[in-house]
Amino acid sequence: MRSWPSSRWMSSPGHTNPNPPGRPLTASLYVHVPFCVLKCAYCDFHSAPISDEPGMADHFAWAVGEGASHWAALGALDDVASIYIGGGTPTTLGPSLVSLVESVQRGARLVSDAEITVETNPDTTDPALAGRLIGSGVTRFSLGVQSFDDAVLRILGRCHTATSARRAVDALLDTGARVSVDLMCGIPGQTLDSWTASVEAALASGVGHVSVYPLTLEEGTPLAIAARVGEFDAPDDDLAADMMQAACELLGAGGLQRYEVASYARPGEESTHNSGYWTGRPYVGIGPSAASMLPAALFEAAIACEAWSDPGVAGVGKTLDSVPPGTSRVRFLRSADTTAFLRKPVGPPEEVEFLTPAQAAAEDAMLGLRLAEGITEELAERAGGTEILGTLEARGLVEHVAGRWRVTETGWLLGNEVFEAVWHAGTRRGLA
Ligand code: SF4
Repeated sequence: MRSWPSSRWMSSPGHTNPNPPGRPLTASLYVHVPFCVLKCAYCDFHSAPISDEPGMADHFAWAVGEGASHWAALGALDDVASIYIGGGTPTTLGPSLVSLVESVQRGARLVSDAEITVETNPDTTDPALAGRLIGSGVTRFSLGVQSFDDAVLRILGRCHTATSARRAVDALLDTGARVSVDLMCGIPGQTLDSWTASVEAALASGVGHVSVYPLTLEEGTPLAIAARVGEFDAPDDDLAADMMQAACELLGAGGLQRYEVASYARPGEESTHNSGYWTGRPYVGIGPSAASMLPAALFEAAIACEAWSDPGVAGVGKTLDSVPPGTSRVRFLRSADTTAFLRKPVGPPEEVEFLTPAQAAAEDAMLGLRLAEGITEELAERAGGTEILGTLEARGLVEHVAGRWRVTETGWLLGNEVFEAVWHAGTRRGLA
């Protein structure tokens, strides 16, 4: 593999570098572990039960380490603000997960207060493993609970109970790490009482971060099929909105403030990694189906690497020659083929999207509005969104305060409408 010092792409002409000259790129690192114990009934993520082939977990950890070395050699991991090991359920890897966490840090330079999160589920949360992960540098766990109601968990096809979820929260908090809990609303058969009891249980558990999401019925999942054949009613959007509002009130009263449309935290417990996605921080993705978003010049450096010069295993991956002129950033996706990733951890992506500065600004504005702090006037202007934000302000969906645009309480309930309107205004302008 050829590699370049970081300065090669920092100063590449014609491309936007998000950092001041001479400073390394501040980036996040995401690792996708595509294994779970069982497939949940609503899930369309790239995940499957882990194979019982001997050495599989170690092999996967090795492959991720290879990916991290590749990006470190290109200078993409010189200033890492956060690492997120997600999936899937990374803890299905067992002790090999500790090697994985250690290997992604090798070659990377982490900022002094870097956040390292591991996603886990109640059924695979082992206190001894959690302790070893803390020893390897993990600072935060994100636990997929979804509900503290066993009847709702059964509908979702989750393979844990409310009791095992409580036990897992306690075990993770005992490590001293920060802990986040994911909850899901708008589930068929879930009542407002069941939902508020789950939110209260999350609050009572003592975690410092809660994410709440309405269920989306993804085409082809067992839950979507069951709804289509009339086994369940499809989720009721109005009830889901009431649930999101109830969560906002309960969590706020319990000291967890909303800092993003679906995320609540005690002060100082906001997710550094997720905040990066909402503020345009570049990210490197490693693993099957992992997405990356990098400045164009760094992507160009990767194209020139030997490891990217062939289409990869079994034709997986694109052959790429160059980045189109006028590209500001590039988003790209590895193939969702786990076997191909294990055979060739470093290779060309399967999907690539080249963004102009105008498209990148529209995306930053749309994502930034998800945050309670909103976006600056300068970004709104650059994204071509000032006029539409004025229209949304007249409808009471956004407000303009102290030089920033931000979503109002009413606007949160129609968040998707607000985000899409800003995105479309910006991209229309980008295409003009
Ligand atoms: S645990 Fe998460 S990734 Fe795994 S099957 Fe369930 S929803 Fe999908």
